[in-house]
Amino acid sequence: MIPFNKPYKTGREAEYIQQVLDGDHFSGNGPFTVRCQELLETRYGFHKVLLTHSATGALEMMPLLLELGPGDEVILPSYTFPSTAAAFLRAGVGIVFCEVDPATMNMDVADACSRVTERTRAVVPVHYGGIAVDLDALRAGLPDRVHILEDAAQGLHARHRGRPLGSFGPLGALSFHETKNIHCGLGGALLVNDPQLVERAEDIWERGTDRGKMFRGLVDKYSWVELGSSFYPTELQSAFLLAQLEAIEENSRHRERIYHRYRDRLAPLQGDVFTLPMVPDLEEINFHSFFLIADSEATADAIREELGARKIAAYIGYVPLHSSRMGVRLGYQAEDLPVTEEYAFRVVRLPFHNSMDEDDVDQVCDALATFLRESRSGV
Ligand SMILES: *Cc1c(COP(=O)(O)O)cnc(C)c1O
Repeated sequence: MIPFNKPYKTGREAEYIQQVLDGDHFSGNGPFTVRCQELLETRYGFHKVLLTHSATGALEMMPLLLELGPGDEVILPSYTFPSTAAAFLRAGVGIVFCEVDPATMNMDVADACSRVTERTRAVVPVHYGGIAVDLDALRAGLPDRVHILEDAAQGLHARHRGRPLGSFGPLGALSFHETKNIHCGLGGALLVNDPQLVERAEDIWERGTDRGKMFRGLVDKYSWVELGSSFYPTELQSAFLLAQLEAIEENSRHRERIYHRYRDRLAPLQGDVFTLPMVPDLEEINFHSFFLIADSEATADAIREELGARKIAAYIGYVPLHSSRMGVRLGYQAEDLPVTEEYAFRVVRLPFHNSMDEDDVDQVCDALATFLRESRSGV
């Protein structure tokens, strides 16, 4: 049995959690939260990091912080996780879905730029599988007033032309959900790259209060200053996360080996039945996932069935948002984004996690090679 995902464990999480249990700070924004934030700021050069309970939470902070609401629009791919859209929708912002680029399954940058109107306040690129959206092309195609807000939930440790994903716009979001490379069960981070937004970000993060300023001695009592919420994780969560963040190089080296084994074995098998996504620069990705793009939805289903019969758990990609029940409620129809509708169902994600070794990859690739032989001979 080869599971699709197995959450990463370093073996050092318990030691840090014990330190929390031995102390008196549990609620969050304590020493472990600060250590995680400083580690991320130092390693990746993010101006200010605020840990959140999820990437969903970090995305929800964006419209609050930029004061986006009714009358404003954001452009984002339909091929993404629901939170990318929901975070803005719940603030009353209009959601404008754009097409996917079938070469990468990332946002089609030209299509996104073509949807800008005078109401557009931001574009939200999603770095699918830790492969960067072409952020330079996106920036060049947008008016200066339109923000880039990166959903880098899958993008930690990946870069675009040397710069870490999540650092390109005023705000970015990371996820530490157990399905991501580095996790703490549920967790995330808001990356505040615009120094002018830091103070208000901290107040929104502190349930809308200036409690942080009280701890720094800047005010003698705290009060309600922003529309905020309870956005940060407990110290127990942050202690778990610190153990993982400290192991990121080791984690990444292992994933790199698995990734290259997949690529070396499957690149020669590409053709009329499936292709691999186009990766602009293999040096810059974070080896978050490995997926194929089949020639049809039926082939994608058949591949998953063939693998499933051999106890290998392959998985589908995202079900498009625009044609989902919520998307239809927003006034969209499947035909509005034909490329997304066609390609989303052709994605086959293969098992990919740190508990796999090369033998596991070989088993998956052998099964795919058999599938190809059988489909070509018409069995
Ligand atoms: C995982 C993921 C999210 C949600 O992250 P949570 O931390 O579970 O809230 C959002 N967007 C993308 C692209 C993701 O992959």
